Amino acid sequence: MVYLNGNFIPKEKAFISVMDRGFLFGDGVYEVFPVYNKKIIGFEAHLSRLQDGLDAINIKNPHSNDDWKSLIKKIISFNIKNANQAIYLQISRGCDQNRKHTYDELDPTIYIQSSLIGPREKNSLFKGKSAITREDIRWLKSNTKATSLLANTLYAQEAKENNAEEAILLRDGFVTEASSSNVFIVKDNCIYTHPKGRNILPGITRDITITLAKKLDIKVNETLSSKKQLMEADEVWITSSTREILPITLIDNNIINTGLAGPIWSLIYDQYQLLKTA
Ligand code: PMP
Repeated sequence: MVYLNGNFIPKEKAFISVMDRGFLFGDGVYEVFPVYNKKIIGFEAHLSRLQDGLDAINIKNPHSNDDWKSLIKKIISFNIKNANQAIYLQISRGCDQNRKHTYDELDPTIYIQSSLIGPREKNSLFKGKSAITREDIRWLKSNTKATSLLANTLYAQEAKENNAEEAILLRDGFVTEASSSNVFIVKDNCIYTHPKGRNILPGITRDITITLAKKLDIKVNETLSSKKQLMEADEVWITSSTREILPITLIDNNIINTGLAGPIWSLIYDQYQLLKTA
């Protein structure tokens, strides 16, 4: 079952108009909420980022946080056989009479669906994943979680065609983030990640990771890292709501450090797992 504009219906019966600006222009924002055994991780933070996204593109939030909570809880309960779920929530500007670039105030189109987050055992993660690097040519509002993701999807496809998990992006020689995740580097027991701002999506998992690291007394520097620093790192990870904290051990066919996930990743990964049951 999915939610579309006030109705809970089977996904096969969920349709939108060709005049929807989400379809015509990618004119909308979205959120992904990770759910483990009915527990949503970072719920308030995801709702707050959704509000920021709506503000950034001038769409009025169609629901209160309590309304969102009950809609999302319903979708979770419909799909409960999937104990671990990613709830996808999209709001587009809505449908106009004709296709035109400018917009008036419209009734937004609201869509919510659930998909499975597959099991991922820690033991299977030690060998890590591979990544490619690419130049970050995206627009300078990458902090808005917009549905217009053409650059990101092209990067993801290039990664896939190179048998890689992700494309790590570099702007002016510095790592920004990856096509659908944030990037962390560890060097000499310190953690480095790109500062928030217009060049990266402020990942909720990024924030959680930083909080967990600080709790463990590990120093976190929100600062720029060059490609050289990336390639010579002790550890590299990517973070996202669906991938959690994932080690990257091969970049552009170069092995990172030992080629295995490192001890700092292991510590923070364990702390993240505790959030699922806390
Ligand atoms: N950066 C980009 C470009 C993303 O698409 C995502 C995930 N949607 C992230 C970072 C990670 O964000 P989060 O931790 O909130 O899932």
